[in-house]
Amino acid sequence: MMRFDIMTLFPDLITTVLGESIIGRAQKSGAIEVHAHNIRDYSEDKHRRVDDTPYGGGMGMLMAAPPIYNCFKAVTDALPEGKRRVIYMSPRGSVFNHEKARELANYDNLVILCGHYEGVDARIIEEIVDEEISIGDYVLTGGEIPACIVTDAVARLLPGVLSDSECYEKESIASGLLEYPQYTRPYEFHGMTVPDVLISGHHENIDKWRLEQSLEITKTNRPDLYEAWERAHPKVEKKKAARRKGADE
Ligand code: SAM
Repeated sequence: MMRFDIMTLFPDLITTVLGESIIGRAQKSGAIEVHAHNIRDYSEDKHRRVDDTPYGGGMGMLMAAPPIYNCFKAVTDALPEGKRRVIYMSPRGSVFNHEKARELANYDNLVILCGHYEGVDARIIEEIVDEEISIGDYVLTGGEIPACIVTDAVARLLPGVLSDSECYEKESIASGLLEYPQYTRPYEFHGMTVPDVLISGHHENIDKWRLEQSLEITKTNRPDLYEAWERAHPKVEKKKAARRKGADE
């Protein structure tokens, strides 16, 4: 069972977001544990201050090292031995993706530090952090939403988190392609009907149609993924090109 320990100044953000839906259910069933720790509880300052102005001047406030370190020590000292990774959510980190989620899913315990304001004192990164991870090339006000994103993406790869019907293997990205269009009842909506092949009951044709749709969507929206897939599946692409050529003639 994997355990996520998230160190933050806003624990309610974490428990609210991750307490709902599939990740909330996974916690209740014991498939994962998520603990949000309030760094402010570990401040030694009588006003429970956790931030200060940066040395050398500059805009904004920085989260100070001691409360984060105290929080980290208290959390990790109480944990059983296991494979652990300490992550700082940061726009400076390498950009998160499915491969990284799969890699992180191999740990027993992820300890995630959420920054706020202008970030954290560099020495805390030096002292406790294994890896900085960004969720994309933009800057948010805090690391809580990024930490929830990483937790969600990793958790849904773990046994017992998704039910079979929610299985991820054929989904966008994990399969190497973007997902084909999906339809449910009603058969007709605003004059648009469900493609005939999907109600034909012919599974081979359905699979073929879905693959073709996936290839088209991936080629349009993510040429980088498409090229990688093409390199990994040269035979399928050649067959498809031959079929197209036949149709054109
Ligand atoms: N001054 C920092 C910089 O330029 O790198 C940005 C600090 S940001 C306003 C505050 C906090 O939000 C960061 O410490 C980090 O934890 C989180 N954060 C913001 N954008 C993020 C992103 N793209 N990925 C992960 N965390 C992010």
